[in-house]
Amino acid sequence: SLSSTPRVRIAPSPTGDPHVGTAYIGLINFLVARQGGGKFVLRIEDTDRTRFVPTSEQMIFDALRWIGLSWDEGPDVGGPFGPYRQSERTEIYQKHAEILLANGAAYRCFCTPEELEASRKQQIAAKMAPRYAGICRKLSEATIESNLAAGKPFVIRMRVPWEGSTTFRDELRGDITFEHTNVDDQVLMKSDGFPTYHLANVVDDHLMQITDVIRAEEWISSTPKHVLLYQFFGWELPRFWHMPLLRNADKSKISKRKNPVSLVYYRQAGFLPQTVLNFLGLMGGGMPADINNSTEKFTLEEMIQHFSIKNIRLGGPVFDLTKLKWLNGEYL
Ligand code: GLU
Repeated sequence: SLSSTPRVRIAPSPTGDPHVGTAYIGLINFLVARQGGGKFVLRIEDTDRTRFVPTSEQMIFDALRWIGLSWDEGPDVGGPFGPYRQSERTEIYQKHAEILLANGAAYRCFCTPEELEASRKQQIAAKMAPRYAGICRKLSEATIESNLAAGKPFVIRMRVPWEGSTTFRDELRGDITFEHTNVDDQVLMKSDGFPTYHLANVVDDHLMQITDVIRAEEWISSTPKHVLLYQFFGWELPRFWHMPLLRNADKSKISKRKNPVSLVYYRQAGFLPQTVLNFLGLMGGGMPADINNSTEKFTLEEMIQHFSIKNIRLGGPVFDLTKLKWLNGEYL
């Protein structure tokens, strides 16, 4: 069963500059870990080789250290389940994909990109939501054998039941239900032998004994797939907490066009780490004071004392650069 001390993580993908959203989610995870005397894990999710940026990982380390979010386990500090770089763990995911293949919860899909595109077009024309049409769900053993013998490339997909629905509890929102007709047969292993985010994320959260998955709300629609994977493996679910996205002043999702989003920018522009931390901490409702009507300043220690994840508001914290600049002036 879930450990009574929290084990939480952030799992950034090294695809570019470290993002303020990573610092926001990182801060919340860090506070939860410190409050409960638990562990804050850093896991680098670098299995998408098409988006991989080699300099990104070091920038993530530097940015997190700069704002004071030190991790207890991660790529460079080891830990009982490490290393925490997914590209170094591919055999683990392959082994788990084999387990799903063996128990029928996943299948090999030999469809070519052209076939997938043709079926997608048909579905769009028929005003259906595009999803994998299921051609390879019931290939005969003989076909599979001959495709493999012929060296045909394949991916491994999860077999989402065609009927029914999946319900999970979000700790801030309550129960959320997804009808299976809206859940795709997600690719778990790509033809290059790397896992997708979904498989690697679930396998690692389980193996690393994560008790609370605290991440941005953009992952809510992935969670039913993850919950199904936990069920396929027979694993206990962690608790799920989906945090509201940071927003521009006009309430759109925070974007480069309206706010600098790279932590490297804030560091170079002379913002102090305490300013950035306070600003992020006082933004979402988790602290007793609010960034929009308070001049209070908290140290990281005080945030650990006063923060409450349960009080996070779903509305969506507004990232107001003017306020951040003002706050920085107070600290300087
Ligand atoms: N690699 C994902 C990201 O870049 C992690 C999401 C999650 O925390 O599950 O945000």
